[in-house]
Amino acid sequence: MTDAPLKLFNSLTRQAEVFEPVHPGEARVYTCGPTVYNYPHIGNMRAYVFADVLGRTLTWKGLKLTHVINITDVGHLTDDADAGEDKMEKMAASQAQSIWDIAEHYKQAYWADIRSLNIRQPAQWTVATDYVPQMIEFAKGIADKHCYELESGLYFDVSTVADYALLAGRHTQEQLAEADEAHMRIDPVKDKRNAADFAIWRKTPAGETRQMEWDSPWGRGAPGWHLECSVMSGEVLGFPFDIHTGGIDHREIHHPNEIAQNQAHCCTNGLDDPRNSGARIWMHNNFLVERSGKMSKSSGEFLRLQLLIDRGYHPLAYRLMCLAAHYRSELEFSWEGLGAALTRLKRMVMAVAQLKARHAELGSASIDQSAPWEQEEGWTLKQVQADDWGKLQPALNKFDAAIADDLNSAVALTALDDVLAAKKVDPAKKAELAAAMDAVLGLQLFNLTRADLRIRPKAATIAEDQVEAAITFRKELRAQQNYPALDRQRDELAAQGVEVMDGDPLGWEWKLG
Ligand code: AMP
Ligand code: ZN
Repeated sequence: MTDAPLKLFNSLTRQAEVFEPVHPGEARVYTCGPTVYNYPHIGNMRAYVFADVLGRTLTWKGLKLTHVINITDVGHLTDDADAGEDKMEKMAASQAQSIWDIAEHYKQAYWADIRSLNIRQPAQWTVATDYVPQMIEFAKGIADKHCYELESGLYFDVSTVADYALLAGRHTQEQLAEADEAHMRIDPVKDKRNAADFAIWRKTPAGETRQMEWDSPWGRGAPGWHLECSVMSGEVLGFPFDIHTGGIDHREIHHPNEIAQNQAHCCTNGLDDPRNSGARIWMHNNFLVERSGKMSKSSGEFLRLQLLIDRGYHPLAYRLMCLAAHYRSELEFSWEGLGAALTRLKRMVMAVAQLKARHAELGSASIDQSAPWEQEEGWTLKQVQADDWGKLQPALNKFDAAIADDLNSAVALTALDDVLAAKKVDPAKKAELAAAMDAVLGLQLFNLTRADLRIRPKAATIAEDQVEAAITFRKELRAQQNYPALDRQRDELAAQGVEVMDGDPLGWEWKLG
């Protein structure tokens, strides 16, 4: 029997802590979602794959999960430290469209990526513009003690809370002074008391109108980005909740500012007690990086999930690429790395297909009604423990220990490999355990087919059965050593937008021209 204690790395204490839910048996998680002014790049999507694996792991551990992801459609400036223009307003102006249309378009694009990556739907998507009255109420509650008004808006005074920027690891006087200097260089708001002070409410400058603006006690304007997340997380999950997630850049400004607001709102003080930060555990995924700068949204062809799909890669190969690295390690994107992940995924899907076939051959009574792997998701360790796994038990132990060890998905994947490779074990048992593990990893191993995973360039005009026939024919020609015919076939296929990849270890692949 295994049930490793779930340990999660808390950025606030900079150590892995055993997870103890605020509400027994429950886990409440808030994930900072996208600002919907542009398409997400695949680095952004790494943040949601990470949050998804976290959520699935909490389910595996038997906790009732409430996950909230927000959609920021107002208030996020081009610089996180409150300088520059509103990202949404800027994009709307450049495309001569209404902000609401921009927000809707990019929200739908983001949701398409969420589905493609098999990220589970959260209990709630909170949209910032739906919470403006609550934001104003929250701001009114902290304004007297923690804020001051300038011509440009209402600002939060970071010196009014204890341990400001502890999360960023900047809390000595010298460190704060350094940060102050850095802020001064980028921040045009001159009369702030401390450089790190940030806008709670941004007033619309006199004589201007914004597409998105609301009345408030501090004049017509829009909420600050940091305020949004404090309000939506507190409203939906209640303070303190369990876990707040985001990318590692948020550890520096956005989340310290949220924490300061939460402290002010909850009238709590020092962060020596993690409950005082609003969320007990703050978790951050490291970045996906790409050397040539294609991750930047300002580069012409930036790395969107759709670009991977257009080049013929299945999006779940990208999910596997993310899982094969620890979420706290930087991950470098390369097409070779993505190709390797795709090959690994294919091997897993082939192994699962064989298991299913073996299971059918053996004529298991349950095959037609409910095969053991058909439970959609939500497997818990407890359900799995009810079975006798015999020779598979060590793989289960390894899997549970790995995923409980601050979500070590890389090692958990090798436990799944162990299950698929196990010899002389009932195929139904192997399939059942593999499905339970996949419910945590989310690779859809039991739904994917060869055809799904075949590299399929956007420009290819060839039908799937033609591909199968051509591959079979090619094998025959090669066996006959009929090289002229092989060359002819290569040319015919190239005309249809695909190039044969001879020497593919799995023998069923194509590649891009
Ligand atoms: P944004 O839409 O810019 O607010 O970003 C959405 C999420 O993606 C946030 O959690 C960011 O911290 C995260 N993020 C941004 N860039 C990357 C990257 N290159 N790799 C991983 N996560 C990122
Ligand atoms: Zn946020």
